[in-house]
Amino acid sequence: MSATFSSFLYLISAVCFIMALKGLSSAKTSRMGNLYGIIGMAIAILTTILSPAIASYSYILLGLGVGGTIGFIIAKKIQMTALPQLVAGFHSFVGLAAVFVAAAALFSPQAYGLGAAGSIKAASLVEMGLGAAIGAITFSGSLIAFGKLQGLIGGKPLSFKGQHQLNALLGGAILVLIIAFVMSESHFLFWLLTLTALALGFLLILPIGGADMPVVVSMLNSYSGWAAAGIGFTLNNHLLIITGALVGASGAILSYIMCKGMNRSIINVILGGFGTEANAASPTGASAAAQDRPVKVSSAEDAAFMLSNSRSAIIVPGYGMAVAQAQHALREMADILKKAGVKVRYAIHPVAGRMPGHMNVLLAEANVPYDDVLELEDINSDFGTTDVAFVIGANDITNPAAKSDASSPIYGMPILDVEKAKTVFFVKRSLASGYAGVDNELFYRDNTFMVLGDAKKVCEEIVKALNHS
Ligand code: NDP
Repeated sequence: MSATFSSFLYLISAVCFIMALKGLSSAKTSRMGNLYGIIGMAIAILTTILSPAIASYSYILLGLGVGGTIGFIIAKKIQMTALPQLVAGFHSFVGLAAVFVAAAALFSPQAYGLGAAGSIKAASLVEMGLGAAIGAITFSGSLIAFGKLQGLIGGKPLSFKGQHQLNALLGGAILVLIIAFVMSESHFLFWLLTLTALALGFLLILPIGGADMPVVVSMLNSYSGWAAAGIGFTLNNHLLIITGALVGASGAILSYIMCKGMNRSIINVILGGFGTEANAASPTGASAAAQDRPVKVSSAEDAAFMLSNSRSAIIVPGYGMAVAQAQHALREMADILKKAGVKVRYAIHPVAGRMPGHMNVLLAEANVPYDDVLELEDINSDFGTTDVAFVIGANDITNPAAKSDASSPIYGMPILDVEKAKTVFFVKRSLASGYAGVDNELFYRDNTFMVLGDAKKVCEEIVKALNHS
């Protein structure tokens, strides 16, 4: 295949990726977007495999076999609830790949058309240095994010005195090391640079508290894109540069949107450690003080009765709905209520669940009509005129501490104003706090009823009760 034809195919593939991003920007067009992504990737892989520059297929086939098998097994086994940590894990691999490619190019520059060892062009050394630094930060940062999302590391912010100064020092050291590396082409400086960047990645993500992890995940997504673009420069592969830049830019835009959604400063996210010193309660249970307060516990039958006698209901899904896989039973419940003349809609908070768009994906999977699903800013003012707010497996995204308690880790985050509805049902298994580890004062309000149990089971019981009424 001629170089011009390969470039042409890479261009088509890049256009497919752009169309994929465009499609994925709305739930209605997301399936089409996915298809464009698959076609673009298939063209890219085939073009690369058929390139005349490939001397032997054995390693490529081995890589495809091993990687493909691992990917297949993970895809078959992975639970929807574990997707965020899987994504964080995958980001770490992109970062590691960037470091490896930079190292390989430094050790065998001829193989990459970068000249002889000892006389690599300065521009290529800059690319290698930047690629390795961004890759190493992405790798270690994503590992910490994986640990936090998987529950291996606590969700509380781990901060210490002088942490911002240390981060700034490491950031400055990385810049100095890149300049020194470009001037000397020293292998020692390359590894020192990589180690410094690894340390910075750990330190940037460790102090970030649970409630702020969504922004971090999208930021790491962006970093992984820039790392991939860095690999593209080293390999002189235009498609990788374009794709990396697309991922980097879209991840950065998503981080910005999420920062706005969470009322956080993007600069603080980039610098790390923007979670506050949490006075958070244990994530496994309500605090002792809270446990003493009276709570109205209700049954699925009572909830069915109230819902069927209401004129309007807003369903607020959260992480617990994903854990329980309650979306199908929930849609069945909503369908029955709609048939009975109740106006039912779903309210989606930008950080509900454990990854951007988590709730939208699950509701789409259960064939909930897109028009019934509304974003926070479009529905929040309607709670005041709604009979029932049905909060299912959600917690932090409704917690008024975000408005009233300046010392809370979620302070400043906009919330769904469920308490303004006439009656609020919380479907969850206990009075435990959510991901941010903060007690939710709404559980103890006069108009709140707790329906304690697994979200799917409760929905099924409500459906049964509605069918018998
Ligand atoms: P929360 O984590 O605040 O609350 C979820 C609730 O679901 C828990 O309190 C839990 O209570 C309940 N639950 C768990 N399992 C079940 C079950 N089987 N049946 C019923 N209930 C269940 O989730 P939210 O969606 O309200 O908020 C998201 C939080 O996650 C925010 O703090 C956000 O910052 C953070 N986050 C979001 C990310 C994103 O990108 N969207 C990424 C990373 C973090 P109980 O144990 O009593 O059942």
